[in-house]
Amino acid sequence: MMMHCKTARPLLTAYGDSELDLPLTVALEAHLSECPDCTQALQAQRSLSRTVRGHAPYFRMQDDLRARLQASLPIEVRGANNPALPTAPAATPRTRRNQEMTRWLMPLAAALVLGVGVNQFTALNGADDSLADELVASHIRSLQVGHLDDVASTDQHTVKPWFAGKLDYTLPVHDLATAGFPLSGGRLDYVDKRDVAALDYRRRQHVINVFVWPSQHESDGKLGAQICDTYNVEHWRMNGLEWWAVSDLNRTELHDFAELLQKAEYTAPVNAKPPTAPPIS
Ligand SMILES: [Zn+2]
Repeated sequence: MMMHCKTARPLLTAYGDSELDLPLTVALEAHLSECPDCTQALQAQRSLSRTVRGHAPYFRMQDDLRARLQASLPIEVRGANNPALPTAPAATPRTRRNQEMTRWLMPLAAALVLGVGVNQFTALNGADDSLADELVASHIRSLQVGHLDDVASTDQHTVKPWFAGKLDYTLPVHDLATAGFPLSGGRLDYVDKRDVAALDYRRRQHVINVFVWPSQHESDGKLGAQICDTYNVEHWRMNGLEWWAVSDLNRTELHDFAELLQKAEYTAPVNAKPPTAPPIS
């Protein structure tokens, strides 16, 4: 099947980092061989990422730009690209996580500082489309009376233990009440042929469902956002978990919510590596 630009574009970053699996790589390269627009987008992305990583022989990042870039990153990430600091010790899960964060934060931060327009709302790829539909259906089902929460509580210390023993992975629960997204509860749901945790957050009268389950993929990343039937969906991968947020909340606020949750998870202790993730079949 021929790949379309809409599918190809979100894959370019992973392709540039040699992170796509073989079938996707083959399909994307077939598309690139016939599509000058996507080829150009790939080249633009490569030159931006060379610039950011400071490897371009003709461009040395000016000190004040470097300082602004560093200042725009979370504190823990700043050291990773700062040559003035001593080299990091052998990679622990935490430093590996920092490196991964750096890899996907740096181009974004650079783009913001450099004033390069980036489309933060990349479309999800085709494989995730049907899953997004399933999650939206689950979200709609949850809004029926009595279906939203098995445990109704605004206290993360009540919600988190409720899931213990009901899931084969540790669920991180973050309260974002101070940022205007209070936790309201959680439930067990069944998505993608497995039991998953669904957390219930609120924004004004809107319900945000956050689905979390162990990922089959090694690397973290921001995977995309999309609209399904007027519902907004955000998907990212972090600390070995897949995270999906679904809501009728507007796109901008749901995106803000997703970033807050990523920040909260990023600063939390690593606790989420699934001990018994089944092998990819
Ligand atoms: Zn194309």
